[in-house]
Parts: sequence; structure tokens; C-alpha cells
Amino acid sequence: MTTLIITILAITGLLFVMRRELGALAAIIVMTITGLLAWMIASKVLAILLFAGAAVTAACGLSILRSQWLTPAIFKIFKKVAPKVSQTEQVALDAGTVGWDGELFTGKPNWYKLLDNPCSGLSDTEQAFLDKQCTEVVSRCNAWNIAVERADLPKDVWDYLKKEGFLGMIIPKEYGGLNFSAKAQSAVLQKLAVNESLMVSVGVPNSLGPGELLLKYGTQEQKDHYLPRLADGRDVPCFGLTGPRAGSDATSIPDTGIVCKGEFDGKEIIGIKLNFEKRWITLAPIATVVGLAFRMFDPDNLLGKGQDRGITCALIPRDTKGMEIGRRHCPIGSPFMNGPIKGKDVFIPLDYIIGGEQMAGEGWRMLVECLSVGRCITLPSSAAGTSAFAAGVSGGFTRIRRQFNTPVADMEGVQEALARIASQSYIAQAAVNQTANMIDQGEKPAVPSAILKYHLTEMSRSTLTDAMDVHGGKAVTLGPRNYLGISYSGSPVSITVEGANIMTRSLMIFGQGAIRCHPYVLKELDAKNADDIKTFDKAFFSHLGLIFGNAARSLTLALGIGKAAVPFDSAAKPYAQALARFSAAFGLCADAAMTTLGSELKMRELISARLGDILSNMYLASMVLKHWHESDKVEGEQALMEYSLNLLMYRAENALDEFLQNLPNRSVANTLRVLTMPLGRRWDKPHDDATRTIARAISTDTPVRSKLLANLWTSDSEGTAENPIARYNALLKDYDKAETLYRKVTKAYNKGELPMEALHPEQRFEEALSAGIYTKEEADFMRQYESSVLDMLTVDDFPFDAFAHAKDALINHNAA
Ligand SMILES: Cc1cc2nc3c(=O)[nH]c(=O)nc-3n(C[C@H](O)[C@H](O)[C@H](O)COP(=O)(O)OP(=O)(O)OC[C@H]3O[C@@H](n4cnc5c(N)ncnc54)[C@H](O)[C@@H]3O)c2cc1C
Repeated sequence: MTTLIITILAITGLLFVMRRELGALAAIIVMTITGLLAWMIASKVLAILLFAGAAVTAACGLSILRSQWLTPAIFKIFKKVAPKVSQTEQVALDAGTVGWDGELFTGKPNWYKLLDNPCSGLSDTEQAFLDKQCTEVVSRCNAWNIAVERADLPKDVWDYLKKEGFLGMIIPKEYGGLNFSAKAQSAVLQKLAVNESLMVSVGVPNSLGPGELLLKYGTQEQKDHYLPRLADGRDVPCFGLTGPRAGSDATSIPDTGIVCKGEFDGKEIIGIKLNFEKRWITLAPIATVVGLAFRMFDPDNLLGKGQDRGITCALIPRDTKGMEIGRRHCPIGSPFMNGPIKGKDVFIPLDYIIGGEQMAGEGWRMLVECLSVGRCITLPSSAAGTSAFAAGVSGGFTRIRRQFNTPVADMEGVQEALARIASQSYIAQAAVNQTANMIDQGEKPAVPSAILKYHLTEMSRSTLTDAMDVHGGKAVTLGPRNYLGISYSGSPVSITVEGANIMTRSLMIFGQGAIRCHPYVLKELDAKNADDIKTFDKAFFSHLGLIFGNAARSLTLALGIGKAAVPFDSAAKPYAQALARFSAAFGLCADAAMTTLGSELKMRELISARLGDILSNMYLASMVLKHWHESDKVEGEQALMEYSLNLLMYRAENALDEFLQNLPNRSVANTLRVLTMPLGRRWDKPHDDATRTIARAISTDTPVRSKLLANLWTSDSEGTAENPIARYNALLKDYDKAETLYRKVTKAYNKGELPMEALHPEQRFEEALSAGIYTKEEADFMRQYESSVLDMLTVDDFPFDAFAHAKDALINHNAA
């Protein structure tokens, strides 16, 4: 019995020391004291084991002892097995900042670092722009008209966008731009996202491209010339990187720029002769200036800096001789301006290089450095806006669409989809707004940009699919009245651009995170490169301490022992504590994968993707927690917060489980399972009760619905296009009254109090009035309500020959 008690004491003490990462000395003290106790009052065998443990820990853990024998041996092995970082990877590793993503890697996130920077609102000017200009422009756009009838934005919309500075949101005021914060840019794009062409046309000039590159790297002359013209739309930019041979593997572009002598403006100068073929370039058909990435060579070493100068970015006016530009591709969904650009022997002066001659060869670094911010904003904001819109129209439609005498929103199958739509919209808004806030605080979140790009665009695609399903034929039938179908068919665009999603998930999220965000890996690699054994010793053994710490934290937290202290209210606390547990488990698994797979991990994309999924779901959950913590909560929001966090925890645990099932080293995987999931899985999908509650909240007039839709165009008074959200909102305001009256008339009909041929609702209302079942006011109300409902249910039809482009190929099927 005493032996058992001392054993438990020793294990508890060691777990405590490991959990707190108190170091080797503390562990030695625990083992020595419990060893002495065992020697005196219990088992000598146990005492010898504990003394041996203390001796080994001292030899390995105390720097003074290990530096002579252990560290040199480990350093030698590390140098052999450590992954080689290519130059391209190094550029990616050096770009951007590490913030909350790094905390999640530690296994013991410091929540105060997350909550330190509350998400402040927009400035008055930004809010006014959102309320006036954004509302105005979005209310002039009808998806069918833009996508099908004109395949372009209307001229008045283009003019308005340019005049009001939409294309220069990132450009400083001194150059005539709006100089909006990241939060404001995101809010604008969320609002414009209901129309894909509109969002893309505004998003692209404000994302990675000439504007941003000039701001960061341009010469003063280039800035003075281009920035005012980009701000007011006199110049429309595009950026050409992709070509037929180089898509995801963008550094492999075969487009060349050869330094040579040539004639320019009547003078002989040293310039660059370009030959290139680009495709899928957004805004190219109408662009006045093309940002171009090419590989620069100086075969005669005219510039004296070697022959292969590397990827270079230049700005080329559209009318430069040799440019072939203006043809269009037809992107799926909405054919926004997108097309190929070719150049044959296009001769440009060296000062067309962005940043001038000194920036030749720096193109890849420039692009990667700028990518993190744009990728956090443009597509994730579009995804958040689209999801909110899908939530608004789906909630509205399913409430007014009655089948089996009941709103379809009350059918559980539909509710499942509605709850998913609402929660993914909530998660997307929290993630994009909070991440934009980090950018405004000076961060350039590289790993979160990949997380948001992948997960929010995937959520938006799944949300649009759910929204289509709950709308039935209404959304399947295209035409001016269809507010959803075109967005739905365009959803693969954001999946593919700015880092195709499969690659982003499989290669980038964890691949980049593992080295960038890990507290010690980069330090170890740097020490290896610098052959600095002292720094290596510190990093490596701190790393080892972290692994032991994460093992202890994972096990104890999974067993519910010593729950993590978290600064959240009682509603959010269990989720934050679960997240702390996942962070420890993730840290441990990440180290196990890196140690057992080494450089092979790069090729093991399925493993990397699962680790990325754990990290991503933790990151998204943190954003929801922060959003909940600091925003004004509305009635009913708690259920949505809980559903969303439950979903993210379930997904994180799923990824952990799949990772453990598939890690090639089975004994390590089995040990990890004991440490991270000793009691098996703990998270199920959200409960059906929560599903019902949330479905009702977004399909009726509630504060939750209003909060989710707050950033959209919700009024109906402006512009030329109909606003489905406003119309549904109006119908939902009257829904309770209408529902009571629907029931009254249905009951009367079922009891035989109304004529049996009164099958149409309108007929029943008239008969109910005649029979004294409805008052006049009730009958008038229902006539009006039902007429609005029918209007929202109506779909378009067209003349027989409306869709055929080749009219002469039309067949007269009914010819005699
Ligand atoms: C509508 C549209 C607009 C665009 N706008 C622009 C623009 O303005 N400027 C510009 O320069 N480019 C633009 N692009 C190009 C876009 O960025 C590329 O399409 C994208 O980089 C992917 O390249 P790809 O389509 O050739 O796919 P591929 O590279 O051929 O990839 C095919 C599939 O393989 C996957 N894959 C590739 N490598 C890996 C890997 N290592 N691991 C796992 N999976 C992998 C991808 O995820 C994808 O699913 C646009 C594209 C489209 C369709």
C-alpha cells in the first residue's frame, strides 16, 4: 500500500513538474525525495528506479552535464536528418508574422495575448462609406443582368466605383486613396459579396497586385505616377503570374525577360525584352496597366549582377508594343473580367521594374511578403459576406415556403441545413473580422491567411450548397429573380484562386506552420545553419521540455484533471478549456509527426492536412471565443456560439482521430492515443435541440438574425435592384400574425367550415371573411401577406429562343 501511495505521489509530482515545464532540476528533486521516502518506508526496488530516473534526468537534463557528451552527439544527428529548406520555402518562412497561431503551437496558449487587442469598430468615415456608398453600389446590381445579360458591370456602376474610390481602398490619402483599415476593407467586401462580379472587381485592385506592390516597393516616381491614377480609377490594374505551364507551382513560370539593348522613345537604351503567356488574369480585358511576373536573365551581364536574376515584377502599360490583351475567359458562375495576356518581344525600360533595377530578382519575395494580408481579406471577406447572405435568404425563404401546411423551416431535415448555414456564417464573420483586426494592429498573419483562405471558402461553398438545397426549384431556376444560383455556380472560383484549396490544406497550413509557428524548430534550424551548438542546446532541450509538458498536459486535461484556467464567461469556458486540451495534444502530435517522419512529412500530405485541420479548427474556435468575449451579445446568440464551437471542436477531434489512425509509426501513434484520447472521443456533433433552436433563430425575426445580417444591404429604399433580404425581413416581421391566421383558416377548412374547392390560400381567405372566421382587417392583412409570399416564390420564364446564342441553329420542335 505504501509503495502504491509513493508511486502515485511520484507520478503526480512528475506530471505537475512536466505540465508546468519546471525543468530537469524540479524533476530530479521530485524523484530524489520520493526515492528517499520509498527507501525508508516502502519498496527498495521503487527507490532504486526513482534514483536511476533522477540520475538519467541529471545527465541529460542539466546543461552542465550534457554539454560534454549528449549535445554534440544530438547536434551531429540533427545536422544529418533536419529538413533542407529550399530558397523558395525560406522566402515563405521569412514572410509575415507569427501571432496567435504560434500560441496554439505551444500547447499552453496565453489567452491574454488573444484578448489583448479588442476588435475596435470602424471609423465614422468608414462606417459612413459602408452605409452610403456600399449600399448604393450593391443596390444597383442584379446578378442575372450582370452575369448573363451584359457579362459586365453596368457603366454607371463602374463609374461610381471609380468616382467613390472603391478601387483605391488600400491607397494612402496623400495619393487620393481611401486609406481604409483592414477591417473596413473587409466590411466593404462582405457587403459587396452578394454579387460576385462586383466583389471581384473591387477586391482584386485592393489585393495583391500593382497597388500593394507599388506601395511597398515602388520607387517614388512610380508611386507619384501610378497611385493617384489607381486611386481614382484612371488606371485599372491586373496582375499576371499564372500561365498555361505554371499554376500552383508559380515559381516555375517560363516567361522570360532578357536584358538587352533596344530602342525606346527613339533612343537606344538597356532594357528588357519580354516574351510571355499568361492566362486567367482578373481584370486583364479592361486593365490599363499590367503587373507582370517573369524570370529575368542578363546573358551578357549588362547590369553586372550575373546572368540569372530570378523572378521579377514590372508594370507595363496596356498599349506597349507587342502586348496582346483584351480577350476574355468565361469564369464559371459570373463572367467577371478575366482573360489571357500574351507578349511577344515586348521591350520595356528597366525603370518599369517595380522598385526599379535594384528590385530585379526580388519578385517572389515581394509577392510572398504581400500575400499574407490580401489573402486574409479578399476571399475570406467574400466568403463571410456570401455566407451571411445565404443565411438571410435561406432563413427567409424556408419560413414563407409552406409545404404540408407547414413552413419548411419547421421541418427537421431543413433545420439541419439552416443551422449549419447560420453557424458557418457566424464562424466566418468572427474569423475574418478578428483577423482583420490583427492586421490593423500591425500583424501580417501568414499561417492564418492560409487557414482563412481554405476554411472560409470551403464553408462558403458548403453554405451555398445548403442554401440551394433548402430553396429547392426556386434557386435552381435562373433569371433575374434568382438571387442565389449564380453565386452558387461561382463558388469554385474562390476555391481555386490565390492558392488552390487542396494544396493550401495539404501543403501550406501545417507545412508552413510547423516551422514558422513552432516555438523551437526555427531556432534549431537556424542554429544548425550557423553551426552554433550552444544555441542549439538551449533550443533543443527547451523543445524536449515542451514535448514532456505537452504529454503531461494532454493526458491530464483529457482526463479532466487540473482544467486550464481560461478568461471567459461560464458559457464559453468549457470550449476554451477544450481548446487548451487540443492545443497540448496538437503540439505533441506535431512534434511526433516531425520527429518520426522528418523531411518525409512534406510528402505525407494526408498527415500534414489533418494536423492543419486541428490547427485551423482551433484557430477558428479562438476567433469565435474572442468575438463572443468582446462583442455586444444579443438574445439567443449563446446557442449559436455554442453550436459553432461544438462543431469546431468536433472537427478538431475528428482530425486528431484520423491523424492517429494514419500516422505510419504505429507504436508512436498508439502512445499518442493514450496520451491525447485516454477516454476516447469526447465531442459529438451539435445536439438536435441546438439545431432546432438555431434554425428557428435565423428563420424568424430575431436579434440573432439581425446580428448575422448586420453587415449586409438590408434596406429596400435605394438603388434599382430588388433586395431579397429586405423583403424576407419584412415578411418575417409579420410572420407570427400570419401563422396564426394560416392555422385558423386551415383548421376551418379541415372542419368543413369552408367550401371544399377552396384550395388556393387566397380563396380560403375570402371564404373565411364571408364565414366570419376572419375579420376584414385579418383578410386584408392575409391578402397582402400572401401576395408578397407568392411574389418571392415566383420564378422567371423566357421566350423559347432566349438562351440560344446561335439563333439560326434553333429547331422548331412543334412544326407541323
Ligand atoms: C477565375 C480565375 C481568376 C484568376 N485570377 C488570377 C490573376 O488575376 N492573376 C494570376 O496570376 N492568376 C490568376 N488565377 C490563377 C490561379 O491563381 C490559379 O488557378 C491557381 O494558382 C491554381 O493553379 P491551376 O488552376 O493551374 O491549378 P493546378 O496547379 O493545375 O492544380 C490542380 C490541382 O492540383 C492541386 N495541387 C497542385 N499542387 C499541389 C500540391 N503540391 N499538393 C496538393 N495539391 C496540389 C491543386 O490544389 C488543384 O486542386 C486565376 C484563376 C482563375 C480560375
